[in-house]
Amino acid sequence: MTTTAELAPFRFFDLQVVRTRRLGPSMARITFAGEALEDFAAGGRDQSLSLFLPHPGQQAPVVPVDAGDGSAIFAAWRALPDDVRAVMRSYTVREQRRDPDEVDIDFALHADGGPACRWAQQAAPGHRVMVLGPAIADNTAVRFRPPEDTDWVLIWADETALPAAAAILEWLPAGTKARVWLEVPHTEDRQDLKTAADARITWLVRDEGALSALEAVSGAELPEGTAYAWIAGESGSVKALRRHLVRERELDRRRVTFVGYWRRGVSEDGLREEAATEESSDM
Ligand SMILES: Cc1cc2nc3c(=O)[nH]c(=O)nc-3n(C[C@H](O)[C@H](O)[C@H](O)COP(=O)(O)OP(=O)(O)OC[C@H]3O[C@@H](n4cnc5c(N)ncnc54)[C@H](O)[C@@H]3O)c2cc1C
Repeated sequence: MTTTAELAPFRFFDLQVVRTRRLGPSMARITFAGEALEDFAAGGRDQSLSLFLPHPGQQAPVVPVDAGDGSAIFAAWRALPDDVRAVMRSYTVREQRRDPDEVDIDFALHADGGPACRWAQQAAPGHRVMVLGPAIADNTAVRFRPPEDTDWVLIWADETALPAAAAILEWLPAGTKARVWLEVPHTEDRQDLKTAADARITWLVRDEGALSALEAVSGAELPEGTAYAWIAGESGSVKALRRHLVRERELDRRRVTFVGYWRRGVSEDGLREEAATEESSDM
């Protein structure tokens, strides 16, 4: 018999690091395995998940997975002291493979070094994490969804959204016209990306004095036809770019998927608290 829990689009997966690899000065690829991965079903593209990490000194992240359903688990997790409960951060499935079951997550290593960044810098085989991830490939944590009548795709991503942009480029059907801007800190952070799309990729390397997201896109000649835009990365850049696309380029706002992946000066816990306060003041 299949139970509701088995059909839930998201569930917890207990994973361990199997290997790590530096992709460049600002990016580490961490590969995870675990028996539960046979039920993991990433939808590709910008599939995101919630990663629960241990604090320094803990053997495993503390997540009360036996507390009941999703909301009961979160309530029990929130009720734990800050220095005990696992650090929760959003990341992207860069790739899922079978035989053996493995998942790659690419971590941007930033100078502001939050707990996830610090964890990734020291990750080694055997280190344990918990993931709240997809058990059904068609799930709401895949946001890249171009409408059927799309003639071409516009993508902007900074280093935190580069894993998602790279997976989107791999997923795009052959010949899809794509205009892509990828912003990274250093020249060596550029990656060889695989795609069958007809993609024109511009790397914006900050160390080389690259144009900002807004300058690069607003100064570009864009293809003719109906566009779909996906923009993700630092919230300020995402907001400015979305405003430009909707107001000046007159893109239908429903054809612009935009996600702030992080905000300068605010941790992900801070962003979550802000969202919770806004939600409660709306009620
Ligand atoms: C849907 C989604 C998918 C994501 N996927 C990925 C992914 O695949 N890979 C990835 O690396 N990130 C990804 N991110 C972004 C990641 O969750 C944030 O960068 C997160 O803040 C990192 O946690 P931390 O503990 O290192 O820093 P935090 O404790 O959250 O923040 C500490 C400080 O660091 C700053 N900061 C955070 N990130 C950066 C950065 N990149 N550069 C400079 N300063 C920074 C914050 O503004 C804050 O001042 C994703 C975010 C979302 C919402």
